[in-house]
Amino acid sequence: MVKKEFKAESKRLLDLMINSIYTNKEIFLRELISNASDAIDKMYYKALTDENITFNKDDYYIKVIPDKTNRTLTIFDTGIGMTKEELEENLGTIAKSGSFDFKKEIELKDGYDIIGQFGVGFYSAFMVADTVTVISKAFGENQGYKWESSGADGYTIEPYEKELVGTEIILKLKENTDDENYDEFLEEWKLKSIIKKYSDFIRYPIKMDIKKEVEKEGKKGEYEEVIEEQTINSMVPLWRKNKNELTPEDYENFYREKRYGFDKPLKYIHMTVDGAIRFNSILYIPEHVPYDFYTKDYEKGLELYSKGILIMNKCPDLLPDYFSFVKGMVDSEDLSLNISREILQQDRQLRIIAKRIKDKIKNELLGLLKTDREKYEKFFKSFGRQLKYGVYENFGQNKEDLQDLLMFYSSTEKKLVTLEEYISRMKEEQKYIYYASGESVERIEKMPQIEVLKEKGYEILFFTDDVDEFAIWMLFSYKDKEFKSVSSGDLGIEELDKQGEEKEEEAIFKAIKELLGNKVKAVKPSKILKTHPVCLTAEGNISIEMEKILANLPN
Ligand code: ADP
Ligand code: MG
Repeated sequence: MVKKEFKAESKRLLDLMINSIYTNKEIFLRELISNASDAIDKMYYKALTDENITFNKDDYYIKVIPDKTNRTLTIFDTGIGMTKEELEENLGTIAKSGSFDFKKEIELKDGYDIIGQFGVGFYSAFMVADTVTVISKAFGENQGYKWESSGADGYTIEPYEKELVGTEIILKLKENTDDENYDEFLEEWKLKSIIKKYSDFIRYPIKMDIKKEVEKEGKKGEYEEVIEEQTINSMVPLWRKNKNELTPEDYENFYREKRYGFDKPLKYIHMTVDGAIRFNSILYIPEHVPYDFYTKDYEKGLELYSKGILIMNKCPDLLPDYFSFVKGMVDSEDLSLNISREILQQDRQLRIIAKRIKDKIKNELLGLLKTDREKYEKFFKSFGRQLKYGVYENFGQNKEDLQDLLMFYSSTEKKLVTLEEYISRMKEEQKYIYYASGESVERIEKMPQIEVLKEKGYEILFFTDDVDEFAIWMLFSYKDKEFKSVSSGDLGIEELDKQGEEKEEEAIFKAIKELLGNKVKAVKPSKILKTHPVCLTAEGNISIEMEKILANLPN
């Protein structure tokens, strides 16, 4: 039989899996079960939306079968199966994850779920198996096929008689080594505990044959071994469970199982809403910025379920752009299963859900700011930029929602502060919220323009992000206090105004102006300088930094 080669990327990934030193090898089972569940989802969805398919819920399940004699572990499902072409496409190539950058040094470390991140679930089987055999018959086909591979050198495909539609994955487990124990993946207790840990909420039964000693009928004291098929998982999706039955670890496992991120979530939010519209939602704020977050490729959205059936992977209408970093899912009983994307966009129900979600996220973030400052600052360092963009976009429509979530570096506190905190510290006679823009805190500290304000004991917000000033521009004021750039001509300080009428321009200023020509508009004596001999100021309420940005914008 002809052996086919894997595509180059797949080969390298396989090598990585085979030689993996990843200590969390047990997640291969989570990945294979999750694939089986996806395959049943597809079948289930077909059956629910196609009247010609009769459907019996009991026919859909996953079974995990250890065989100690042959050292094999089989994961059996009654999902939609794969055709010969699909076996080649899906198991021979890694096409979908453009993100897999092989140039980078890839490390398989604990706590860093590379497998989840890159969507290479199936290949994780090679962490524990020498040979992987996939026997599958696709829905609507008469012929089944067997795919087999012993690693990076390639795979074979041949016809194979299979009665039921679905897939069986047979793992020939590796031999134990001094450091690694693969035998345990044949042990009932171990398999049960892995299934419970990662796959408890899978919506289809995950079955196993469990050996039991029972007393023989009518014969006291005599026992025999019987085999009983048991369902290991509870099948209740996490979002339908009672919040106080769940641990942070449950939410973290769900985050990974769902591939929302490969980090630990910074915060999770579990919503159960009853009333005019009913829905359950689990939301996450990631700890780290997703690698493509600030690029065009990033797609925002939440998974959307209708009565427990996934109908859309990333529903963008559920999240405003400024919360696009939020991951998670929504399940509502009030949405129709056959709803199309176009209808969804105008769906009133969906808009109500989106509004509730937005408000919830906002309030949870405000809560975090109050109760766990350190965590909030961590969050803000990752996603604060996005919030500031949010203030700016749509002509400031979102400012009410966002202004209390903003933070800026403070000249007096030497750390990030909120606007609320700033105004609570304002001096009695202080008219404005002052800000200074520059490349870095160190640079701003040296600006001559801030000296006079410092001397008066006024706090100054340092803007080091391009978007800061745009956002403030849109806000214009906070709680009736207007913002003022330190480089604006009029700082609104009374003593400076009283220092007398402007004197006649002295000869020296004329001479400097002539020397500089068009580079400056005017040369004037300044009232704000203390120890520096000269400074640049802008006219109006735009800082010099801002002018530079505006001047460099493409037309
Ligand atoms: P992902 O699940 O992220 O798509 P995987 O590497 O886990 O990536 O699986 C690759 C593909 O192989 C799946 O998308 C699916 O099309 C197919 N596949 C894997 N396992 C099964 C299965 N048990 N039944 C049907 N298709 C499967
Ligand atoms: Mg998968």
